Amino acid sequence: MHLDIGHRPGCVEITLTPGHGEPDTRRGGLARHTASFSVTVAPRSVHPDLLVLSAVLCARPWVRRQTTVTSNLGASRALAEALRAGPGLRLGSVDAGLEPRARPEPGVPGLCFSGGTDSVATLAMMPEATRSYHLLRRAPEGERRATMFDTRAARESCDVVRRLGRRVDVVDSDVEYLRESMGFPHDFTTAVPLLLHADRDRLDVVAWGAPLEATYRLQRGHYRDFADSPFIAEWGPVFAAVGLPVCVPIAGVSELVTSEIVHTHALGLAAQSCVRGPRLGSPCGRCAKCARKTLLAGAVSGQWPATDVLERQWRGAEPRGHLLADPIKVEPVVAHTVHRYLADGGHSTLMGLVADKVGPDPLPWLARSYEPALELVPEPYRAEITDRLHRVAPPMSPAQEQAVRDYDVRGEDRVAAQQALASWFDAHPPQERWSRMRGRARREARARMRRARDSARRLLPGTPA
Ligand SMILES: [Zn+2]
Repeated sequence: MHLDIGHRPGCVEITLTPGHGEPDTRRGGLARHTASFSVTVAPRSVHPDLLVLSAVLCARPWVRRQTTVTSNLGASRALAEALRAGPGLRLGSVDAGLEPRARPEPGVPGLCFSGGTDSVATLAMMPEATRSYHLLRRAPEGERRATMFDTRAARESCDVVRRLGRRVDVVDSDVEYLRESMGFPHDFTTAVPLLLHADRDRLDVVAWGAPLEATYRLQRGHYRDFADSPFIAEWGPVFAAVGLPVCVPIAGVSELVTSEIVHTHALGLAAQSCVRGPRLGSPCGRCAKCARKTLLAGAVSGQWPATDVLERQWRGAEPRGHLLADPIKVEPVVAHTVHRYLADGGHSTLMGLVADKVGPDPLPWLARSYEPALELVPEPYRAEITDRLHRVAPPMSPAQEQAVRDYDVRGEDRVAAQQALASWFDAHPPQERWSRMRGRARREARARMRRARDSARRLLPGTPA
């Protein structure tokens, strides 16, 4: 893979040229070969390692470990060694005379900010001086692919954070269009806006909003130590090599705690996990995240929707797939909220079947902080973040910590409950087919109009084709 990195005023552009034997069909295929990011830093003021790492995070899915990665910019030996030791990539363009980026002292913490619940909760736990960076999707010129995701809510979320006195940079980019099946090429591509501004803002950590379930992979059905997570094992040394150790303040608390943080903190107004809703405060109501939020809001507030309203939401195509997955993503949270619903006197048959599938309520540990996770908060921020976190989630007891490590919901004893759940869904198909069909027709009409407008523009004299 060859990475050509250009930085002109206002824009960093990365061009990917796959090498011999590097298939561009992996991960849904490489549909475009360039990605650009809007920046407010001057050319030649960004450490080359930050630019090279940004480019690698855009190109990662299409890089073969056996094939050397080259770039028009030379990187430091330290970055090359970290890429080799962590993700196992060979970097060919090394500038032996280049010093690696030093971690600024004093520095400022940086956060990759999405506008979702976990991201806002993370910001609420971090020092006031934290700077956030949001990657905003922008369609490249002449792009025909349309998307269901709406960026307005995320933009409004950044506005709210700003109004509350925190600093946010919105970096727009077409990087999500590199892949044929659109989306971020890599989990850590969302760090690129932060990397590009790290020197300007003297950043000394890169933070993410990954909760307990994601950090320890409980969402895959069983515990895995974070030492084996991509944050630490693969990419931790790489970020450290550019002076940005990884910081995950909420790694020890579940989505139940992050929901409580956004319900009680002023910054909570900025939180919306649904990426389909048209506005902040107007989630779509039909996706799995929205259905899960209904349960979380019930568990946090004690107010539950009527049985038929609750079941209609979960009968939708996407939410039902969420409950039928085995294990369920974020299962401990689903388990707790369903038990809470039943304990509050809820009558839904569906929720009863889900409770049978997920087993007992994991609440005793779910509302507390798993202390070993605090290792994922580097100095000098550990004491301050720990203190804020413990005000919402007190430390787990040793027995509760053990319960997290023993977490395992794989097993034969779930087969009957899973079948009962599947039969209920078979007997209760989605009810919203008509409104979905109308929505799709609207989206297609909009895409047709956009295409017509684009081709009309191309016909005008004086406009570049
Ligand atoms: Zn939604």
